[in-house]
Amino acid sequence: MAVPSPSASASVAPPVAAPPAPVPAPATGDVVMEVRGLTKTYGSGETTVHALRGVDLEVRRREFVAIMGPSGSGKSTLMNLLGCLDVPTAGVYKLAGEDVARLSRDRLAEVRNRTLGFVFQNYNLLPRTSALENVQLPLLYAGVGRRELKARATEALGRVGLASRMDHRPNQLSGGQQQRVAIARALVNRPAVILADEATGNLDTRTSLEIIALFQELAAGEDGMTIVFVTHEPDVAAFCSRVVVVRDGRIVSDQQQPPASAAAALAALPPEEAS
Ligand code: ADP
Repeated sequence: MAVPSPSASASVAPPVAAPPAPVPAPATGDVVMEVRGLTKTYGSGETTVHALRGVDLEVRRREFVAIMGPSGSGKSTLMNLLGCLDVPTAGVYKLAGEDVARLSRDRLAEVRNRTLGFVFQNYNLLPRTSALENVQLPLLYAGVGRRELKARATEALGRVGLASRMDHRPNQLSGGQQQRVAIARALVNRPAVILADEATGNLDTRTSLEIIALFQELAAGEDGMTIVFVTHEPDVAAFCSRVVVVRDGRIVSDQQQPPASAAAALAALPPEEAS
């Protein structure tokens, strides 16, 4: 997939010189992402690729949306645009009510940093850096003070069940634990939306279910987050509240569904064999 450079800074906006302006938190039920006629064309002339051909999409608070579709259908292109990592050829994208095309570079960085958290298939953690420091990184860029930095990173790691692993480096953690650190890093700015790209793609069934259960918890409750999750696995999509299917750069299906419970699916797995 054409995911942009997997730099660890993918979830981190560049440092912003101006003091951050508050980004209004959307109320429950509000549209957090609104896309109209979104189009992305690569190249020109005979080599033109129409990656997105006019996509309309509204994503509301607390939705857990699976974006599905065959390879080359435009999923990554859509995610890159939703993540403000790329600009569309045409169309409008409003994030937290703001038309991103009209924002200054600094304001866009600010809105992106406060509204979006990113989780990738390969975790993208800094290797020689503890879990705690990895999670603190987005806060450093946001200019948060040292004491709050540690408190918030500790809280985020507690939320993903890693309170006892804060000093571990990525190579001292399992794949599932590394993905939890990446989720904590995405959570630490308290974003309204988490964008996850094949976030369970490298994980076994049990660990995938644990990660999905965690996403379901994050989307639940009054102040739940919105999760947009690219996956090619129908099994994973069953746990989402909405499934959007992309094909040849268009949305060909968009359906709400009662999500299966990942916690229940975990409980139904056969007991783990002792290793
Ligand atoms: P998916 O994530 O569903 O596999 P992509 O969004 O990566 O699909 O790609 C959609 C189409 O756009 C494909 O035909 C792909 O080859 C093309 N594409 C993606 N990124 C680029 C790029 N940077 N330059 C040229 N073509 C691209």
